[in-house]
Amino acid sequence: MKVLKFGGTSVGKPERMHAVARLITQDDARKLVVLSAVSGTTNSLIEIGDLIGKGDPAAATAAIDKLHGSYQAFIGGLYGTPGGLAKGQAVIAEHFGFIRSLTGKPYAVKESKELVAEGELISTQLFIAYLHETGVNAALLPALDFMRIDADEEPVLDFTERELGKAIAAQPGVDIFITQGYICRNPGGEIDNLKRGGSDYTASLVGAAIRAEEVQIWTDIDGMHNNDPRIVKNTFPIAELSFDEAAELAYFGAKILHPFSIRPAKLYNIPVRLLNTMQPEARGTLITNSTTEERDIKAIAAKDGITAIRIQSSRMLLAYGFLTKVFEVFQRYKTPIDVITTSEVAVSLTIDNPVHLDEIIGELKAFSRVEVDRDLSIICVVGSFSLDRHGIIARVFNAIKDIPVRMISFGGSVHNISVLVVTEKKNATLNALNEGLFQLAEAH
Ligand code: ADP
Ligand code: ASP
Ligand code: MG
Repeated sequence: MKVLKFGGTSVGKPERMHAVARLITQDDARKLVVLSAVSGTTNSLIEIGDLIGKGDPAAATAAIDKLHGSYQAFIGGLYGTPGGLAKGQAVIAEHFGFIRSLTGKPYAVKESKELVAEGELISTQLFIAYLHETGVNAALLPALDFMRIDADEEPVLDFTERELGKAIAAQPGVDIFITQGYICRNPGGEIDNLKRGGSDYTASLVGAAIRAEEVQIWTDIDGMHNNDPRIVKNTFPIAELSFDEAAELAYFGAKILHPFSIRPAKLYNIPVRLLNTMQPEARGTLITNSTTEERDIKAIAAKDGITAIRIQSSRMLLAYGFLTKVFEVFQRYKTPIDVITTSEVAVSLTIDNPVHLDEIIGELKAFSRVEVDRDLSIICVVGSFSLDRHGIIARVFNAIKDIPVRMISFGGSVHNISVLVVTEKKNATLNALNEGLFQLAEAH
């Protein structure tokens, strides 16, 4: 069985949903289809939630009216029969009834999670109604029945394995299953989610749970490009990546994949293919446990919102146990460290989650001097570098010789060279690396 995930733009217009229906019905193979919310919907729901949370029900209602109106127009283009349209009307009436009800009651985290889940609940119900209208034998499997996170917000894969396995086995006559990306339940049984862009993660998790033959991520671009196409001209798709290379790119900011979405697929060695809904015949990117590509440097990605913390031991030398004390502080606040460099008396490290920054600094100051820099970006050059091969570092640093670098990291993984720059210099860095590392002749 294959898993096919379609992102927001792939279901963003009635014609796009029609195209997805054609794509999933062109062969008889059994498949599990994961859908995101219609593009723009999650952002709108978050805005509506912010207005409700601020205690501005009038503005929230105006924003709800606008979104509701856009769905009225959407279903007008989606269905071709009065029966289909009536079903679409009923779906929208029910969900917007719920959304509106949130403006009149106490609003906290639980309600905000219920609100943002509406995007995927609506898109999947509208889509299955369209499939049924056109006579396709498909079934909706509610993700809230089998997607779960634990108290550390980690997905519980064996739960998904068991529950999704049962749900599929219960419908032997069905070849096309539809489910929601992004949404799940937390240990308290409340509705929760896998964070922005989480539908990719759902696809990989359900792929791992059912030991899928392949996970396909269908989006609006023809695969993973060698650089961020929103910032750099002349980027090109990469035909093949290893799981490790793709995981580094996703983690370090390539928006096409959720940061953790490669891990579950890698665990069970399930190939992941990135494909373009607008151009289904394009080759895209194939991610497997090995690649045949010769190129050493494959791609560049950037992650914003980075804070660097420089911690200097108050003793003259870096005594035994200093690093342990430093790491324990970050562990206590469940704050992951991304990049780290050390010298004899100091350590610099970066975090992308500053929620507990003040407490962390407070604790570090008890035994060290601390300096903090904000608004930084990690630029990550990804590929397969053998550590004894020379020249790679020189090529990277030659390309960015005019850019001030705050931190450098290489040697932790053979797949990653990271440099830290102020975010103002991010675009210049990405462009300089593109010119210096990839010959323009390769662009097509
Ligand atoms: P979806 O809604 O299908 O999940 P996303 O917007 O999350 O789509 O991801 C696709 C977008 O990722 C592309 O349109 C592109 O602008 C952006 N992107 C950023 N970096 C890369 C990259 N290295 N390769 C391809 N796309 C990238
Ligand atoms: N709809 C969610 C978001 O916009 C999840 C996703 O699209 O992957 O973040
Ligand atoms: Mg996405």
